[in-house]
Amino acid sequence: MPLEIVTIPCLSDNYAFLAHDAASGETALIDAPEAGPVLAALADRGWTLSHVLLTHHHWDHIDALPQILASQPAKVIGAAADAHRLPDLDLAVAEGDSFVIGGDEVQVLDVSGHTVGHIAFYMPVSKTVFTADSLMALGCGRLFEGTPPQMWASLCKLAALPADTIVCSGHEYTEANGKFAQTIEADNADLQQRIRDIAAARQNGTPTVPSMLQLEKDTNPFLRAAEPAVKAALGMEDVADAEVFAEIRRRKDSF
Ligand code: ZN
Ligand code: FE
Repeated sequence: MPLEIVTIPCLSDNYAFLAHDAASGETALIDAPEAGPVLAALADRGWTLSHVLLTHHHWDHIDALPQILASQPAKVIGAAADAHRLPDLDLAVAEGDSFVIGGDEVQVLDVSGHTVGHIAFYMPVSKTVFTADSLMALGCGRLFEGTPPQMWASLCKLAALPADTIVCSGHEYTEANGKFAQTIEADNADLQQRIRDIAAARQNGTPTVPSMLQLEKDTNPFLRAAEPAVKAALGMEDVADAEVFAEIRRRKDSF
């Protein structure tokens, strides 16, 4: 059975998520930016936390963990590669590992680039992937630790998931990402439509996260570095995909 996914706005522009299985009552929290909204979302639904899944070591994804665990003790799962800089883990995982929440398999993907050791959690039955600061809505995380080829490989791994996968990413940066995306592909009609949809959503105070993987493939410039139209627009027709990605990332860093 697909899990029920709840998006929780935290801090100024972070997202945490709950994944709940009604049959078993198990509930996973993905990332721990802020205790108040997470505990309120659990209390509103009468849910009890069973697992916390951590995507990477940045403070805005882990700092609220002790406060959350104090009232909602749960099994903490994170990257083995980052065990030294994550809170204490009950289960340390790596690419290819899987575990079960509410009877559903959760697959671990290494999506290094933003940090080295950043992981994503893919739930095939729920058709959902939690990407935090790797693949983001209309963007991707800044490369603080990894190299452009590393992030490009991570994005290609995510792009290979089924097109109807729901992408739960870590921040509400989508409107600004849209302004940048237009500078790469001004005449992408899907992108123009998405930018209109984003503006309408933000006017209503509605999150633009999660998004559909197919929509990211159609509009996200960082996923489109291999597209002939994108290469042509950048004058990089004969350049390798990872280098085109690196150029797009460079331009975004100074946008
Ligand atoms: Zn981060
Ligand atoms: Fe973040």
